[in-house]
This record gives sequence, C-alpha cells and structure tokens, in this order.
Amino acid sequence: TTHHATSGPRPVRAPRGTAISAKGWPQEAALRMLHNNLDPEVAEHPDDLVVYGGTGRAARDWRSFDRISASLRDLEADETLLVQSGRPVGIMRTHEWAPRVLIANSNLVGDWADWEEFRRLEALGLTMYGQMTAGSWIYIGTQGILQGTYETFGAVAAKLAGTGVGTLAGTITLTAGLGGMGGAQPLAVTMNDGVAIVVECDTSRIDRRIEHRYLDVRTDSIDEALRLAVEARDARRPLSIGLLGNAAEVLPEMLRRGAPIDIVTDQTSAHDPLAYLPAGVPFAEWHDYAAAKPQEFTERARASMARHVEAMVGFMDAGAEVFDYGNSIRGEAKLAGYTRAFDFPGFVPAYIRPLFCEGKGPFRWAALSGDPADIARTDRAVCDLFPENEHLTRWIRMAGQRVAYQGLPARICWLGQGERAAAGQRFNELVASGEISAPLAIGRDHLDTGSVASPYRETEGMKDGSDAIADWPLLNALVNTASGASWVSIHHGGGVGMGRSIHAGQVSVADGTELAAMKLERVLTNDPAMGVIRHVDAGYPEAEAVARQHGVRVPMSEG
Ligand code: NAD
Repeated sequence: TTHHATSGPRPVRAPRGTAISAKGWPQEAALRMLHNNLDPEVAEHPDDLVVYGGTGRAARDWRSFDRISASLRDLEADETLLVQSGRPVGIMRTHEWAPRVLIANSNLVGDWADWEEFRRLEALGLTMYGQMTAGSWIYIGTQGILQGTYETFGAVAAKLAGTGVGTLAGTITLTAGLGGMGGAQPLAVTMNDGVAIVVECDTSRIDRRIEHRYLDVRTDSIDEALRLAVEARDARRPLSIGLLGNAAEVLPEMLRRGAPIDIVTDQTSAHDPLAYLPAGVPFAEWHDYAAAKPQEFTERARASMARHVEAMVGFMDAGAEVFDYGNSIRGEAKLAGYTRAFDFPGFVPAYIRPLFCEGKGPFRWAALSGDPADIARTDRAVCDLFPENEHLTRWIRMAGQRVAYQGLPARICWLGQGERAAAGQRFNELVASGEISAPLAIGRDHLDTGSVASPYRETEGMKDGSDAIADWPLLNALVNTASGASWVSIHHGGGVGMGRSIHAGQVSVADGTELAAMKLERVLTNDPAMGVIRHVDAGYPEAEAVARQHGVRVPMSEG
C-alpha cells in the first residue's frame, strides 16, 4: 500500500514550520534536508535528482527517494537507516546516541575505481554519484562557493600582510572566468576590500554577474580596466571590473605593459580543454569548432593555456602572489610543453592548509523552520561569540546583506577547533529557549580539515607525502558515528572524480534537548580535531600548537 504512483519526477520542497511528520527532530531534519537538496531553488536538475557538480545526486532514483522519505518518517529514535549509494537498504535497531542515518555513496574497490567502471555500474542501477554534499543532504546552494572563495582571498590577504589577518585593500587581483564557480571571485575580492579585474570571453556571463551584483562594472578595454583598477586601489576602495577578452591574450599583454598586479589566479574551465577558448578563436565559433575538430581544438586550447600560464609565471617573477585555483591549468600547460607550469602552487597548500591546521573548515547550518529570522538570530550569535574575529564578522554582516537564500535559509562560515563546539552549544541553547523557532541542522562540506583524502586538491603536497592515505576520512566517519552525529556519510570521487578522492561528512541536529547538547559538544569537538591530528601526524607545527592549546590528545606526541 505504500508503493503508489508517485515514484516519478515532481517538484519537492522541504516542509517548513514546527509540526513534524517524523517521530523525532533528527529524523525530521534528515527528511527536510533531503527534500531541500532537491528543491528547484537549490538543485541544478531536480527532475534527475541531480543537486550539483555534474551528476551529484541526492538519491538513486525517485522510488529510492520515496522509500528513504517513508523510512525516515517511520524511523524510531533508536533505529538507523542504511543508505547504499542513494538507495535505502536496511533499517536496524541501534541506540539513541547512534546516527539515524548511515550513508555510503559511490565507493568502489581501488582497481575498479574509474569513471568507465562507475558508469557501467550506474547504468545497471547499482550505484550513483554522490558528489560531496549532494548525497549527504547538506548542500545549501551557491553561498558555499562564495564563502570558500572569500575565505581563500582572505587567506591570501593574511599571507601578504604577514599576519593571521589582513585585507586586500590597496591591492589589484587579476583573474579570469565568471562561470558557475568563478563568478564568485569578484564579490569575494571586494568583500575582502580589494580590487579585481576578471577577464571573461563570454559577454553574457559578465552581464549576468553585474545583474546579480556579484560584479560592479564592465569594460572591453585593457586600458580602461587598468585605469579604473588603479584609481580604486589608490583610494583603497573595493571595485570589481569585468574585462571582455581572452585570458590567453589579455594576461600576456598586461604583463608586457608592466601592469601593477598584486595577485593572479584563474578560474576558466581549464580542466576541460574543450571548455577553454583558444586565443584567436572567435567566441561565436567556439562550440561548432570544438564539436567538429575536438583534437585540433584541444591542441590549440592547451597551447593557449601554456601562454596564459607563462604570463602568470611572469607576474610571479615580477613579485605577484600567484596560485592555481583548482582548475588544472598548470597540468594542461605542462602537457603543451611549458616547463615552468608548476612554479606556482595550488591554493590548498598555499592558503587553505594553514587554516586546516587550526581545524578550520566550512561549518554550515540550515534553519529547519524555513524562517530567515532564525538565521539572522544565529548570525548575531556568531558575531557575539567571536567579536574579535573581524574577517568572520565582516563575512557574516555582508552575507546577511548580499546572499539570497536558496531553499531553507542557511549560513556558512569557516570555524576552527573550539569555535565549532562553542557555536553548536550556543545554537542549541537558542533553540531550547525558543529564540530560534525550530531546530537547526549543523553540518559541513566534505572538503574539510580531517575528512578528505584528495591528492589533486585538498591533500596535494602534504608535508610527509601522505597525500593519498585514505584512512583519515574513514576514521573521521567512524569517530563522528561514535560521537553522536545525526547522519554520517562516506563517499568516493567527490570534487575531482572517480579514483581521486575519498571523503566523509556529518550533520548533527540542534533540537534544544540535553541529549543534543551532549552530542553536539562531542561531534563538534572531535570532527575538527580529526583535522588537527591529521596535520600533527603529517608534521605541521601549527597543528601541534593548536592541539596543545585545545587539549587534543595525540599519543605519538606524548612521551
Ligand atoms: P564554468 O565552465 O561555469 O566557467 C568557466 C568560464 O571561463 C566561462 O564563463 C568561460 O566563458 C570562461 N572562459 C573559458 N575560456 C576562457 C578564456 N580563454 N578567456 C576568458 N574566459 C574564458 O566553470 P566554473 O564552474 O566557474 O569553474 C571554473 C574552474 O575552476 C573549473 O575548472 C573548476 O573545476 C575550477 N574550480 C575548482 C575549485 C576547487 O578546486 N575548489 C573551486 C572552484 C572552481
């Protein structure tokens, strides 16, 4: 009788308010966050259950979605639902401290772990791609990208200032690409008080970013872009400029002119040579040319990337801060024969790893009530808890003004060891006292300090060479399970693709109860502590200092 005709695509949206259809708030939270991931405001292709990142799905198929939903409504507070690559496969009696849901997505045995085998198995209906937060039900839309980019540019500023904090005031950043992720760059730079010139060959992308207030002005002229940038820099006024052009032509030309650039990076889609416009190819001919002659197009794109990266190295030689923003442009330039391509670092070893050493990472929460006032209340709580952290409070203030919610109102900010537990406790108190109208789901991206092994990105260039060691994300999932998280997940292939990453996630529900307070204290202490010990083990002295300061115990350092 529970198998009825609704097992097909239709718009879904998380229930709002304080009345619940599950037998407890942790189950209700999982139900709402699963639905929220597929909300048409949130998901890229909701009919196909695709949330983001290519084909990252929230459930294997619509029938699985329906059975997961029914199971969550039926689930007791001492039971656990098991999800195997988006399909509910079992319900087991556990205990009240155990997670209500355990999730394993897209995992394959090493020798089989490539896209070809994955797609074969997917076509047989045996697996699905979970990406990171798609299959673990804690995606919150594009706010995550904006915040990550804000954090990266904040870390660049801190490095340039030679201190733990800094702003980009008085600097000019040169980058390219205003696409899905790259479009966050101009706003992330101006939120850090800097000036950005962003080269983009697609005029419609420039216009769209201006319309959404992520970008301030546009120009077709290198001269005008530089004049506007220098004026704003000298006045220490934030400004972002979209410059229509091809990065493989504009960067070498700017270098030739000795343009006063302080920071250089890139977010064109260099990882896919067919998605990078070669120099000399008119924009209008791009797609037909790539489709008709993919081999020739690829060679021309790579040759252009070599010129593009050569100019980036030229800026580095001239004293600029230069980094690869995770789009593989160095690798492509190297394939084209440019030997100095890897002279500048990737963004994780350069800026993010020092934050990981402090247990810092993308902490996020969603208001299950659906009421934006609940997030506004948590925003105030975060600013009250960490008033001395200017970088954080500036983000929270500006996010409140600039970020439009998609689906359930949510917030993200990077918090470290000690800070996450403090925020979780405070949030639970606010739910208990009724200052927040319904519980909060508190989770994070899998791209975090102790939860991912990904040698091309998050664990690139580890000090001890442990880039590909994947025990850490597995221990992370186990310790979150043992600590009382509400749902825990282990995935393969997120971010960088099959065979290239293993990672884990957790979400914990602040429902205002005593039990939730105890669980949150443990999970939000132990989860970032996994990152601290992972970096202590790899030999980072910054992590050792954080471990000592917060009493994170590391047996190999004790005696
Ligand atoms: P996208 O395809 O949506 O946008 C790329 C943009 O680059 C497009 O607007 C395109 O017109 C423009 N472009 C292409 N060739 C150009 C050229 N020669 N000159 C100027 N502009 C050009 O891609 P996206 O989602 O914005 O992602 C960008 C890249 O950054 C991807 O490679 C992605 O994998 C990478 N990325 C990585 C991370 C990470 O590692 N955490 C984060 C963000 C983005």
